[in-house]
Amino acid sequence: MKISDHVYALPLDTIMGSGPSVLFVSLIVDDVHGATLVDTGVPGMKDKIGAAMENIGMSLSDIKRVIITHHDLDHIGSLPAIVEATGARVMTSGGEVPYVQGDLPGQKQPTPEMRAGMSPQMLAVFDNPPKAKVDQVLQDGERLDIAGGVRVVYTPGHTVGHMSLFVEADGVVISGDALGSHDGTLTLPWPQGTADMPEALRSIAKLAQLPAKAVLAYHGGLVNENATQQLQALAAQPSA
Ligand SMILES: [Zn+2]
Repeated sequence: MKISDHVYALPLDTIMGSGPSVLFVSLIVDDVHGATLVDTGVPGMKDKIGAAMENIGMSLSDIKRVIITHHDLDHIGSLPAIVEATGARVMTSGGEVPYVQGDLPGQKQPTPEMRAGMSPQMLAVFDNPPKAKVDQVLQDGERLDIAGGVRVVYTPGHTVGHMSLFVEADGVVISGDALGSHDGTLTLPWPQGTADMPEALRSIAKLAQLPAKAVLAYHGGLVNENATQQLQALAAQPSA
């Protein structure tokens, strides 16, 4: 699904703890630099991502780099398989590096009660999470010279090193889980899954300062009406 000159959303169906769910993995594309994949879905999604790319006239081998917004399992799940298949460079924020590389256990661990309800396959994923070597650490405010300029925006709160991207030429924010959305309306990130909500609100305020025309949320998809006003309104919420 093309959402702007350089950004495509690849909606991928999956089953999360709460039932059927769609993950909005995305691609930033230009003719010179190839495709940059943002997040990788749950484990086992490499071929689904490849099929979604073929639907828009590309293939997995067009992926030259993978940017990870944060290390939750629904974002790094297929990272090792995609790196193996493509040789893509892996990039993320400094705060996420030890988790993406598997040097530290994930920030969110299931409680004993949650573990009791998990399948053996699910437990195995938590106990031996997907990992990959990070080739490039992205700094807050850094501008990547792809697709007319892509700005790195650190947006901690949901996880310690969460980051978002701003595709400058298109005015598109790729927000990972700094935000959610539902039917075209931005929402706060999932509270139970968000490590530090006051920090997450400060991050949303940071995004609200960008000249954004649209926000692509990983859970919920595209918001393209009054994006900046919606960001400002969310940032002004009391953090409780
Ligand atoms: Zn997520």
